[in-house]
Amino acid sequence: MSAEAGAPREGHAPTVAIRRWVAGWDLWEVPRRLVAPVFTVELTAFLLMLYGVLTITPESADLRTAALICVLGVVHTEIARDVERMRRRITGEELHVDLGSVWFFMAAVLLPPGYAAVVTVLVHSHIWYRAAYRRAPLYRQVFNSAAMVLSAFAASSLMSYVFAQQAMDLFDPRALLVLVFGMLVFLTVNSALVAGAIAVSTPHARLSQMVGVWSENLLEIATLSLGALVAMAYLTNPWLALFCLPPLLVLHRAVLVRQLEEAASLDGKTGLLNAAAWHVQAERVMHRVKRRDGPPGVLVLDLDHFKAVNDTHGHLAGDHVLSAVADVLRDEVRERDLVGRFGGEEFVVMLAGLGGRGPSELEAAAERIRRRVADLRVEIPTPDGPLTVRGLSVSVGCAVMPDGGAELRDLLEVADRALYAAKGAGRNAVRMGTASTTRPALLPVTVDKNPPPAVEASGLHSNAGD
Ligand code: GH3
Ligand code: MG
Ligand code: MG
Repeated sequence: MSAEAGAPREGHAPTVAIRRWVAGWDLWEVPRRLVAPVFTVELTAFLLMLYGVLTITPESADLRTAALICVLGVVHTEIARDVERMRRRITGEELHVDLGSVWFFMAAVLLPPGYAAVVTVLVHSHIWYRAAYRRAPLYRQVFNSAAMVLSAFAASSLMSYVFAQQAMDLFDPRALLVLVFGMLVFLTVNSALVAGAIAVSTPHARLSQMVGVWSENLLEIATLSLGALVAMAYLTNPWLALFCLPPLLVLHRAVLVRQLEEAASLDGKTGLLNAAAWHVQAERVMHRVKRRDGPPGVLVLDLDHFKAVNDTHGHLAGDHVLSAVADVLRDEVRERDLVGRFGGEEFVVMLAGLGGRGPSELEAAAERIRRRVADLRVEIPTPDGPLTVRGLSVSVGCAVMPDGGAELRDLLEVADRALYAAKGAGRNAVRMGTASTTRPALLPVTVDKNPPPAVEASGLHSNAGD
């Protein structure tokens, strides 16, 4: 009987194992609304690559060039591996500019579109396999590869079309314009596909999140330029292509240094500026802005009864709340305003160039932030299912630079006193401080007699209504 009972179980074992294996694919983590566009991009890239390869008669010169670009790409990845891993560790894998574009663009310049696509897949996959700090999920890698393939394919097709139409080659003086055109096509296709995927997967994504910051785009342009140069060098003498490796390694290191500097100025939990970096940048803004766009203003913010969040839900949940509040702050001010975490649950914002309506504009920004925090619902994944923390509130103190000017330290002191006034007034409030050019005015400080907000299993409830 036990044999009978065991037989079907044994028969099903491989099926169960396969089902478990399939269920474990990180492909299922793809947000549902992203599945159709991602699949379309990948299928299009695959079909175009297949079409490109099958519709041309292989020429040994092209095959040789393709093989050599692959070898150069692999050698580059291997010798720059440690630097590249460190870069990826700092930036995460998001919007990481691949210095591999040198080889993808070199292939687009020298090879027919289908071959350029194959070289791109091979070199890109090797980078993912060898240089990723924490290997991105396969589906994301396949999408990124597909986006690169489409970029190289489009650039290669359009450049060969123009070269054929104008009956010219790469040594024609007008080739410069065609190469610039090819770079623009490459950049546009890649940025559009990546930005599209981020826009679909992340509602309300900021523009800089979708298309990357200026320095990253500049790096991509530098990389493509190097690709064009190495392609020309290769045509003159294939061995000259090796000269491209040392400058590429130096570029890699220079980029790493910049990324390390940036990382050192950020607060790890929230991604906002840390206190030291905020001070340095705020001093700079104080001196630059007051001459041009009007006075700057400062907000000092402190979450109300934050200890209760930690006590109720634990420090990890508290960290999620800090990060969500940081997102609100970033959202509610302009990109050029400075948002920092002063420490603990205290934040600071400098709004530059407030113009004539300085105090009211600053107060309006503070009010918007206060309301957004009061409406915030922070979803936190836990082993027992998602936990929602709500009923948060923040107190805000404001200070605007007076006509006669003031030091940053004085401005912060005024805002800090205004913050204490907001706490004294029952929390979940905004108070404007009055700054003088000499010493900051003292605001009456009332001792808080309100109890902390009631805490329920679902979260906190605000103790001060809007
Ligand atoms: P008040 O309304 O008077 O500001 O009350 P509060 O509870 O917010 O202020 P208090 O200064 O008593 O407590 C601040 C809490 O912030 C205590 C500390 O545990 C918590 N905290 C500080 N830094 C962090 C952090 O990085 N993560 C988490 N989760 N909590 C932090
Ligand atoms: Mg505090
Ligand atoms: Mg607090």
